[in-house]
Amino acid sequence: MSNQLILALSKGRILDETLPLLADAGIVPAEDLGKSRKLLFDTNLDAVKLVVIRATDVPTYVQLGAADLGVAGKDVLLEHGAEGLYEPLDLEIAKCRLMTAGIDGAVAARARRRVATKFVNVARRHYAEQGIQAEVIKLYGAMELAPLMNLADEIVDIVDTGNTLRANGMSPRELIATISTRLVVNKAAMTMKHAQLKPLIARLAQAVEKRRTGEACPDR
Ligand code: AMP
Repeated sequence: MSNQLILALSKGRILDETLPLLADAGIVPAEDLGKSRKLLFDTNLDAVKLVVIRATDVPTYVQLGAADLGVAGKDVLLEHGAEGLYEPLDLEIAKCRLMTAGIDGAVAARARRRVATKFVNVARRHYAEQGIQAEVIKLYGAMELAPLMNLADEIVDIVDTGNTLRANGMSPRELIATISTRLVVNKAAMTMKHAQLKPLIARLAQAVEKRRTGEACPDR
């Protein structure tokens, strides 16, 4: 087995918050990720390479060992399932909430509630736990439109400031999970590449800790 470590990063919003944390942990891409169309990048560390992929693909890459470790939102991990993955560290970035939401003041009248979401597994589990019969409809974006167009009674989506919901006359209803970004590691790699992974995870944990104490004492 090679000594190389492949770290899979989630594109988009999470990436912007991940790169400064990686830099604090001493891992810097060899080129500007935003300016390149490449997907595989060298870093300042010979043994560490980065792949930048869709957030929903990160658990798959890590689970199947194409990447040794990855950075993924807890929302994506809850939806994907944790088989083959360790989750050793909460990176405490891109914090948000996974919630149900509906049109302001409306009551979900239908006996069999229609729910639009891209988190179909999470939604099915949530409504089953509540003893509510739900017909879960998979959408790939613009969830907030579904209740307005009478496609669904409720949505399950990520809420940060709540502005997107408010702008569409909707409000959050129930909290399903609080979300943050996690470090995930392939289970086999954790054993086979333990010597390389352990210091890397420790450096990331230190970077998280440094931010936490920095946030608590902004003057220092
Ligand atoms: P907001 O209007 O601030 O409540 O943000 C809600 C929208 O932003 C959601 O529809 C999500 O698609 C997206 N969003 C907010 N925070 C995150 C996050 N941490 N990870 C992924 N998507 C997010």
